[in-house]
Amino acid sequence: MKQKDFLAALDQQRIVAAIADAERATSGEIRIHIQPHAAGGDIRFVAEKTFERLGMTKTHLRNGVLLFIASEIRQFVILGDSGIDAKVPAGFWDDVSAALSERFKSGQFTEGIVEAVRRCGEKLAAFFPRADDDVDELPNEIDVSDD
Ligand code: CA
Ligand code: CA
Repeated sequence: MKQKDFLAALDQQRIVAAIADAERATSGEIRIHIQPHAAGGDIRFVAEKTFERLGMTKTHLRNGVLLFIASEIRQFVILGDSGIDAKVPAGFWDDVSAALSERFKSGQFTEGIVEAVRRCGEKLAAFFPRADDDVDELPNEIDVSDD
């Protein structure tokens, strides 16, 4: 599947709304990045680079979460910042990943991503509840690149 077809199949507005919704319960910041491939090999490594490039290591509590999607190879990785890793058990995102893999296999991209965002938000809220003076530290819009 070409990235442009993947993007055309996505209800981006619904996904952005899901991020805003999730962030109403947690100080954690959820971002989504989509690019065609994970050039350079290891998708986790590429995702980590992207995490930094998007300024996601700059949140106050180091509690940003990136859903990095390589659309044309239908792979993704969920990456949390160091503030999250310091608090949560190992394999914290595994159930979210497993559910999203199933959705991707059946072509339910929007549904899968919305569900993953909601679950990430719920899981984050247990460790990082939202304060009254919460700031939206990272944009909720989906970040897209062509390479
Ligand atoms: Ca926030
Ligand atoms: Ca945000």
